[in-house]
Formats: sequence, structure tokens, C-alpha cells
Amino acid sequence: MNTTALRLMPVALAATLAAGPALAQSKGEVNLYSYREQKLIQPLLDAFTKETGIKVNVVTASRGLDQRMKSEGAQSPADVLMTVDIGRLQDAVEAGVTQSIKSATLEKVIPPQYHGADGQWYGIAARARVVYASKDRVKQDKITYEELADPKWKGKICIRSGQHMYNNALFAHVIAKHGEKKAEEWLRGLKANLAQRPSGGDRETARDIAAGTCDIGIANTYYWALMNDRVAKQKPWADATRVILPTFEGEGGGTHVNITGVVLAKHAPNKDNAMKFIEWMVTPQAQEMYANSTFEYPLREGVEISKTIASFGPLKPDSITLAEVAKHKKAAATLVDKVGFDQ
Ligand code: FE
Repeated sequence: MNTTALRLMPVALAATLAAGPALAQSKGEVNLYSYREQKLIQPLLDAFTKETGIKVNVVTASRGLDQRMKSEGAQSPADVLMTVDIGRLQDAVEAGVTQSIKSATLEKVIPPQYHGADGQWYGIAARARVVYASKDRVKQDKITYEELADPKWKGKICIRSGQHMYNNALFAHVIAKHGEKKAEEWLRGLKANLAQRPSGGDRETARDIAAGTCDIGIANTYYWALMNDRVAKQKPWADATRVILPTFEGEGGGTHVNITGVVLAKHAPNKDNAMKFIEWMVTPQAQEMYANSTFEYPLREGVEISKTIASFGPLKPDSITLAEVAKHKKAAATLVDKVGFDQ
């Protein structure tokens, strides 16, 4: 992924924005089921409607949208499901509520490691699961995931529940890298290094580092930017920490990256508009808007990432694909229980 700027706004879009939402309603609608908060994505949806005249109806929920689509069956109004995390994309595929997205545009724009098999899902933006480190108490500026199990960190690490989907994907990645036996040793080592029982969310991990409860924590990239750039009350938590992009040891070793992605609903009643929406999400302007509202890494080459995120340094994703990582989700969940990680 790169950080070069491509800020040209197509003439057609500029003209449409200037003319206002006159086209709205004239080209039908599209129904979006989303695990992302509507507030977060609304500016993007408005821009899509202005450009295409297609109205976006949104249903948001924090869980269970795939099961809802399943029980709605052929009557489901859903056209597109948008979600964070490979686990949820995979769940939707396994629930049988998706169909293949056939798009030369997506095929070209989105790097192959962020395509589901047979186009059953596509990533549209990425986030990395990284280390937040105390500015005062941690001197090193490099770290590997393997090192998190090193006894040198005993009593110094904070993390949220091992069963949360973000950790589930990271632990599944450790299994994909090293096999279940070594992953179990690693997870026991990590547990032995915890300063407290897994709790809170990623921002609370930064809060606890700021308070001196722990020296390092595991969290997603965008939370640091949200604390630093958006939420004044949480700025001190960002100020007390710095982000280190960890890598896996060995050949092809890089950072654990997860995605926000989309699936096309199996019974999409507005399939043409759904495809327009999905393809629009990877246009330069949508990718840039999205990156700046969610602080994720855009997946389209040439789109600028937020300055705050760029300040972490260049991101080198690990060579193992997300589709491969997702195969080890269940094993990772079992391992978390087996070692009593959350106890
Ligand atoms: Fe999150």
C-alpha cells in the first residue's frame, strides 16, 4: 500500500456536486445492510446518491445481519452487506446469503489478497492490528508478534477479550503462520504476560497504558487516529502512546491486516444498483472519503492515506492471505478457551 496523492475530482462529479441533489430518486434505490454506524458512512452514501441519483436505504446492526438475510430468504430486501472483519465476511458466505461479484473494475482495483474466492466478497479498506507502546517506558521501535510471548513483557501487556473478532483474526493468523501447537505455546506466553484480565476495547488499552497499568497493548490502527484527531477527551491516551507496526518473523513476515468489505446479497432485488454502489466504493473519491472518515488504509493504489495513519510508517502486510487466515478462526476460538485466555 502506498501514500501517494491522487486528488483529481472527475469533472462529472464536480458538476454534480455543484448542481446539488437534483437527480436523487430518479434512478431507483439500493438497500444496504451495514455493521458500520450510519453516521460514519452517511457522507459517503450522500456523495454516491448525488453522483448517481440512486437512493441508499440503510439498515444497521451490530450483529446478526447475515442471519437476518438468511431468514428473510428470497424476500430479503438486502442488496449489499458491508462489514468490518474477514470473519463476518466469511460468516456471510457460509450462511449462503452471498453471490459472486463479477466486476472487472474490482478485479483490477483491489489487490488479489483482498478478494474472496469466486468474488464472494471484496475488501474496500484495510486496518492493521498493531502494538501501542508507552512513550515513556518502551524504548524499542520495532517488535514482532512472536515477541509478545517473551517473558521480558511479564505483567506489562494489555489486550481486550481473546474472543473479540479482532483478536480472533490475529490469533488465527498466528495459527496460519506457525501451526496450532506453536500457536498454543505463544498464546500461553502472551497470557502469562498480561497485566490484567482481558477487558475493555482497543481505546481502553491505550487508556490503561497512559495510566501506567501496562507498557504495551494490542489494538487497531484507526483507534489511535480517532483518539488523536477526533476525540479531545481521549487525546491524552494517544499522547501517552506510540504505534509500532509489528511483523511476523520469517520469510514473507509482515503485519496482520484485516479489512472492511462488501458482499453482494444472494437475492439482491436491485442488483444493477448494488453493483454500481460496490464499484463506486472503490473510485478514487470514495476511497479517499472513506479513508478520511474511518482512518482505514484505502485499498486502491494511489489514494492518499490519512496523515496520522501514515505517521506510523510504511505498512507491509504479511504474505499469508486473509482467506487463508479465516480458515483458522474456529481453531483460534477453541485455543482461547483452552488456555483460559479471558479468565
Ligand atoms: Fe473497531
